[in-house]
Amino acid sequence: MTAAPKVLIVSDLHLDRDPGPTLSKFLQFLDGPARDAAALYILGDLFEYWVGDDAGFPAGERLADALAELPVPVTFQHGNRDFLLGADYAERAGVKLAPEVLPVELAIGGALLMHGDSLCTADVEHMRFRALVRDAEWQRGFLARPLAERIAEAERVRAISREAGQMKASDIMDVHPEAVAEVLRSHGRSLLIHGHTHRPAIHHFQVDGRPCMRCVLPSWDELPGYLELDADGPRLLTLDGRNYPVNSGLPAGLA
Ligand code: MN
Repeated sequence: MTAAPKVLIVSDLHLDRDPGPTLSKFLQFLDGPARDAAALYILGDLFEYWVGDDAGFPAGERLADALAELPVPVTFQHGNRDFLLGADYAERAGVKLAPEVLPVELAIGGALLMHGDSLCTADVEHMRFRALVRDAEWQRGFLARPLAERIAEAERVRAISREAGQMKASDIMDVHPEAVAEVLRSHGRSLLIHGHTHRPAIHHFQVDGRPCMRCVLPSWDELPGYLELDADGPRLLTLDGRNYPVNSGLPAGLA
């Protein structure tokens, strides 16, 4: 055992319905670094889409087994793709479902964990979609539809969002500085950890004169990696434990 308990944080694995290379990498991660962690947090978009706990997608089933046997507490937060992941699956996988903004106490102090899409407030279209699909009544209606229909709808939405993503200006797809400041301010925290934007980095900035930090997790579609955090602070790492390559050319500010 190492001295300081480490916490590991991942997001945006975007696992497909069927087992593929990313699932294999994550299973290795669970069997490797995750075993020595004090806790594992998964901040959403673990799956490319989720149409209900009854769907029985092979990748999800394999992962549930692996998570269930991991002797480490695992917490899952919904992303904008797997927002329908429910209590049944969570129970089978032995993971705790967390609210959209999760305050946690870490070795370096209090932090907020979020998926991150709710911070992209300039993306008006996404905010509208989000408000719809996070509505309990809409969710009940969707989950009551036949599985084949739900899958077809998820595929349709995925295609639209891919297309839209290519059209949108890059700053619209990022978190909004005001939304970041506001969530830190309202929770009285100075550390925010999130995924979603696929722009891995550790940013330092100020909110109301208070030094703050924002850690952005990598997407596993690009280069898989994770955030490791202990009393020495946060580190972005690749799966082989090297420093994650991040763009550090510009002064970050809130960017
Ligand atoms: Mn996302």
